[in-house]
Amino acid sequence: MLVNKNLQSRRTFLQKMSIGITASALPMDSLQANQQPFEGKRLNVALCGLGRYAGFMADALQSSQYCKLAGLITGTPSKAESWGKKYDIAPPNIYNYQNLDEIAKNKDIDVVYVIVPNGLHKEYAIRAAKAGKHVIVEKPMALTAKDCEEMIQACKDAGVQLAMGYRLHFEPYHLEIKRLGQEKVFGQVRLIEVSLGYQIDKNPKDWHFQRALSGGGPLMNLGVYCVQSCRYVLGEEPIAVTAQFGPAIDKTQKLEVETAITWQLEFPSGAISTSTATYNGGIDRFYASADDGFFELSPAVSYGPFRGRTSKGELSFPDIDQQKQQMDEIGKVILANEPLPSHITGEEGLKDMKVLEAIYEAARTGKRITISR
Ligand code: NAD
Repeated sequence: MLVNKNLQSRRTFLQKMSIGITASALPMDSLQANQQPFEGKRLNVALCGLGRYAGFMADALQSSQYCKLAGLITGTPSKAESWGKKYDIAPPNIYNYQNLDEIAKNKDIDVVYVIVPNGLHKEYAIRAAKAGKHVIVEKPMALTAKDCEEMIQACKDAGVQLAMGYRLHFEPYHLEIKRLGQEKVFGQVRLIEVSLGYQIDKNPKDWHFQRALSGGGPLMNLGVYCVQSCRYVLGEEPIAVTAQFGPAIDKTQKLEVETAITWQLEFPSGAISTSTATYNGGIDRFYASADDGFFELSPAVSYGPFRGRTSKGELSFPDIDQQKQQMDEIGKVILANEPLPSHITGEEGLKDMKVLEAIYEAARTGKRITISR
């Protein structure tokens, strides 16, 4: 599970980082029977950016056992007021993008969760780190691998933790396909098909279609999940990629980013994956073909509920609140003063970003691009 067995080395690591937690107390009756050192505490989280996904996260935080929504950062005064009222946030815990740095003085906030357009992740993550707060950042981590490296360095320099908001790493169906692939339950996986797409309104004014804010189209927004699932099911890093941009449906539309892209990854074991990320049609599925059978999910990557089966029969797991689960797992680790598990750290976001950059290069050049570590 999430907490590394080598607790001693984790503790030593965090003692070196000198991380202090100012977690809020929970009422006694909500304490659980197991006596974790942090039991009865919750990590105080400030959401940076109050858009659609932050709304899901704010609601999920209401039922989180280990995290609490304690602060807001927004550029829209009316949202500061309405969200402040709805979630009972004290006015001193509400910031805007100009005074965000003052959060350094606020002992009621432990973590800043960055949920703004992709092109702003780097700026707000680094400002939060410099203010001494742990950082959670939404996918994709930033616009380039170089930006990701700067974010990782800033968090290291500040002695704070940097987590990716990778919700699927805590989801039971995904934990299972990871196990089936990595433990070779059906033998070596040879081929993965995983794709995600939605038919959406292509409004050039929407930040998703502005390169400076999005960094790209559906590859950045949706394809990152396809890359992730191939990497964690195989437990390998891709070594090369070929890719093709999909055709625009409305050729008269002037958009700054692709509306569809298909790519093929090669892995050291010889396994290959093929994926499409698209705004032109609906698709949400994962299929792995292995030497002795198959496993698949459909729906696979969205908010669920997921369904799946293997060559031996149906998969059946509880449908969970992915956002609540993610926050509880991250909360537990940070409250315990342990380093985050490697698969949800900034380094993991960086690995994905290197693959995304290689996919774009392959699509632009028409060449097979090797991926360096
Ligand atoms: P959104 O457009 O609904 O919200 C973006 C928020 O950022 C808004 O509140 C907006 O006011 C604010 N903002 C601040 N500066 C801005 C600027 N210069 N231009 C535009 N908006 C600005 O977007 P969203 O769907 O909530 O996505 C936000 C982030 O969350 C993205 O990085 C996205 O990839 C990620 N996301 C993750 C998931 C997931 O499942 N993990 C799902 C959806 C979105």
